Parts: sequence; structure tokens; C-alpha cells
Amino acid sequence: MSDLFSYNILDNDVEHISELQILIVDDESSDLSYYSAILSGLCTISFATDSATAMSMCVSDNPPDLILCDVLMPDQTGFEFCQELKSQPFTKDIPVIFLSSLNALEDKLEGFSTGGIDYIVKPVPQGEIVQRITTHLNIILERKKLEFYSYRDAVTKVANRRIYEYVFTKEWQNCIRYEEMFSLIMLDIDKFKSYNTFYGHVAGDEVLMLVAQQLEQFGRRSNDLFARIGGEEFVLLLPTCQSEGASQIAQRMIEAVNMLSIPHSESPSKFLTISAGVATMLPEANIEQGCLFNFADNALFKAKQKGGNQICVSDHTRIPKSFITNGHVARERRTKQQGSTQRVGQRR
Ligand SMILES: [Mg+2]
Repeated sequence: MSDLFSYNILDNDVEHISELQILIVDDESSDLSYYSAILSGLCTISFATDSATAMSMCVSDNPPDLILCDVLMPDQTGFEFCQELKSQPFTKDIPVIFLSSLNALEDKLEGFSTGGIDYIVKPVPQGEIVQRITTHLNIILERKKLEFYSYRDAVTKVANRRIYEYVFTKEWQNCIRYEEMFSLIMLDIDKFKSYNTFYGHVAGDEVLMLVAQQLEQFGRRSNDLFARIGGEEFVLLLPTCQSEGASQIAQRMIEAVNMLSIPHSESPSKFLTISAGVATMLPEANIEQGCLFNFADNALFKAKQKGGNQICVSDHTRIPKSFITNGHVARERRTKQQGSTQRVGQRR
């Protein structure tokens, strides 16, 4: 999977090439304005007259979708710039097309060997460059669409299990490195099977979507991730979040679903509700991340046992041996929490 995204790739629902952005890198301002003018009818054009500026634009929150790069530039050649771009995890997937007056075969081959996807020789007739770039933009657009849908759950449109696993691993590693707490909230719709039986599967899917979209807004920070991981099961990953904060968020998530007031005749309250299991740990290199999930899952089970529509905070005091990959866990006590359950105020 590409490292290019911040998790808000899930917001990048691109439908047309006009929504894409080309960065033109050229030290000749006359060339810059000429090609900008020609291509500005296709999509957004940004430009840089040196490779350092171009690189800073590539690592920004709004990186280009395609780079048109000159080869002969004073500080760094286009080939060197492309090589640097391809060596960085956050920029390696940005396609580069060389646009140069160098016409020798060895120059073209060097362009491709450094990672360029095309090599266009200047000067190039207007009609030809527009057609060539349009073709590339269409390929990029299709790739972005596939990427977008491959990260999304088809029913609820929130992040799917595939991206959840990727983000969980990545953030677990980050929390180990920076010695930060990691919280995970596991959520489940109460009595969802009987909802499906009573109202039918079409209504069941609609409810899944409503609930998911209501809950997705709680993953607010850039490294948080809300995902559907199974039938009626959802997870909110909260890296660098303490237990108390996670519990408050879980409580608000339960209240947010209560606010939807979805009738459910098989539920004790006659409305659809959810339950949440909250777990927090200090990740360590010799503990498998599945341990945190397991604690949250057990807490969720307890919340369900107590009747649902409530949160339960994991009161784990020991890391089970099955999650320890390498010897003794010296700091396991640091993850100890007081067990508690909180019942959501009876609705209505
Ligand atoms: Mg030049």
C-alpha cells in the first residue's frame, strides 16, 4: 500500500481530471508561463522555478498529482530531483514527466531510469502536449478512484478493514517509538441481527450507513481512524490518546447514535443503540498490537452483557502470554487501569 496518503486520502473523492493538480518545475520563467497557459484548461497548475521549492510543495498537505519537470536547472538537475522524490516514502508515488530540450537517446533513457513515466522534448506543439498530458491525467484519475474505493467500505463508505489494519500497525509502531499511549474503541450495534430479521437487510444496510456516518466524525485528529471492520462492528483508533479521553469520546459516540432516534422494536428502549469497549495501552516492541484489540473486544463483550447502550473500559492488569512476542513485559503495570462501566442515561 502506498505511503503517500495521510489518512485523509479518504476525503479525496476525485471524479474528474479538472480536480487534479499539475506542478511544473522549470527555471525558465518564459517556459513556465507558456506551459502553464497551455495546460491551465485541463486542471489546476502550480509551478516552481527550483527543485527545493518543488520538493517542499510535494511534501505539503496538498501535493501535486503530476509533475512536469525540466532537466537542466541550476541547483539540481531534473533527474536528481526525480531520484530524490522517488526515494522518499511520502513523495515516491507522484508521477514525473520530463519536459526538456535535451533530445539525445541517453537523456531520455536516464529520465526513465530515474523514475520518470514519460519524456517530452521541447519545444512541443500545443495540441500534442495537451493530448499527452490528458492521457496521463486520465490514468492518474483512474488510479486515484481505485485507491479511494479500495480503502472504503462499500456499504457505509467509511474506511474499511484493509486500511484499518494498515493504520493500526503504522500508529502502533509510532506509539512505541514515541512512548505514547494508544487507545482503541470497539463499537457494535446492539441487537443488529434482530433488526435485520425484523426490518429486512435493505433497512439493515441503511442503518449501518447512518450509524457509521454519525460515528465517523469522532475520529477528528489526522492520525485517528474510524473504520468498519465487520458486520455491525466498528473501530475508532486513537493513537496518543489517554484512557480518560477515549472513554469520553466513546460515551459521546453512544449518545450520538441515541440522537439518531432510529426505531428498533426488538430493543429494550425501542430505539437502536450501540455499545463500546474502550482499551488503552502503552505499546511496546514485544507486545503484539492484537492485545489492545483483544482488551477492547473483551470490554465490549462486558458492555453487551450488561444490557448494551453503554461503554465498558477494559480493566486489564496483565498482558496475556499469547500477545508477548519476546520475554518479560517489564512495564505492563504502566497500562493498568481501574475497571469501570458507565451506563448511558436512559433515553426519553
Ligand atoms: Mg532549464
